[in-house]
Amino acid sequence: MTAELVRAQGLARVYHSRRGLFGQAVGVRAVDSVSLTIRPGETLGVVGESGSGKSTLGRMVLGLEVPDEGSVTFAGQPVPPIRSAAWRQSRSRMQMIYQDPLGALDRRLPVIEQVREPLDIHEGAARSERQERAVRMLERVGLSARQGSRYPHELSGGQRQRVVLARALMTRPDFLVCDEPVSALDVSIQAQVVNLLIDLQADLGLAMLFISHDLRVVRQISGRIAVMYLGRFVEEGDADDLFAEPLHPYTRALVSAAPSPGRRAERIVLSGEPPNPADRPQGCAFHPRCPLAAARCRTEAPRLVAVDGTRRVACHLVEPAAGTARKAA
Ligand code: SF4
Repeated sequence: MTAELVRAQGLARVYHSRRGLFGQAVGVRAVDSVSLTIRPGETLGVVGESGSGKSTLGRMVLGLEVPDEGSVTFAGQPVPPIRSAAWRQSRSRMQMIYQDPLGALDRRLPVIEQVREPLDIHEGAARSERQERAVRMLERVGLSARQGSRYPHELSGGQRQRVVLARALMTRPDFLVCDEPVSALDVSIQAQVVNLLIDLQADLGLAMLFISHDLRVVRQISGRIAVMYLGRFVEEGDADDLFAEPLHPYTRALVSAAPSPGRRAERIVLSGEPPNPADRPQGCAFHPRCPLAAARCRTEAPRLVAVDGTRRVACHLVEPAAGTARKAA
């Protein structure tokens, strides 16, 4: 098996806020005890509701945010401290795609200049060659040279996201973190951008951490999927296996809500409020919404354990027993 490109071990991020009558300081664990690996050319999808810690995780993996606990390595080396010379150098191999392409682009510059910019900064080639490479990259993501002369506000949302992608690829990265890259787009455009990412990944051998609240989108692009709830992974496994047989009750609810051809499953509607990271329930954080919660779930947090060769699950009802899982009924 190919060695991993990205390895995160025991990541935690704690934000401090003040609560109560006397404004006591409390620590909110936005991400807690998360470990992951991504091999070259592989996509790990991370899915979860808003506030589950997905974006914070993505920023820590890329070194944009410093973890309070744990570590991240890229190609076997620790990710350097943010804004150090080594970090700037490593950023050419690791890029991020955000949800809002307009916010990621400079409204005052034609998009071709923004696509060319990484070459202007990092490479000493002649301007004509840099320009030519930028045009080729625009064409690679489905845009014309004429569209390159336009300003961001003159393009559609899908076209703008293609520009952001072209710019990210100019430095020939090995790894992309895509944080809700299609959430702001129409459904038909979402599919086009996801298909483009799949093509580019196959062509360029990119590894990706693909973050979304939408399991349907994550499923399209990911070889493996991690399901995140209130800062922790609750299930992780091969995408097809996880869809065919979700083991954690939260994953089962998500899968039941994601339409899939050929699969008929009764929709599981979760009760209760979406999670608030500042008010983490005791025991299993999912227990207030879990249809299978038992007394033990209210006091004891389940650990994420391997239940077979590729699957890890955090649920008291899914425990490895001599190599087999006792699955939630
Ligand atoms: Fe539900 Fe208990 Fe499993 Fe948590 S540990 S998901 S509450 S059954």
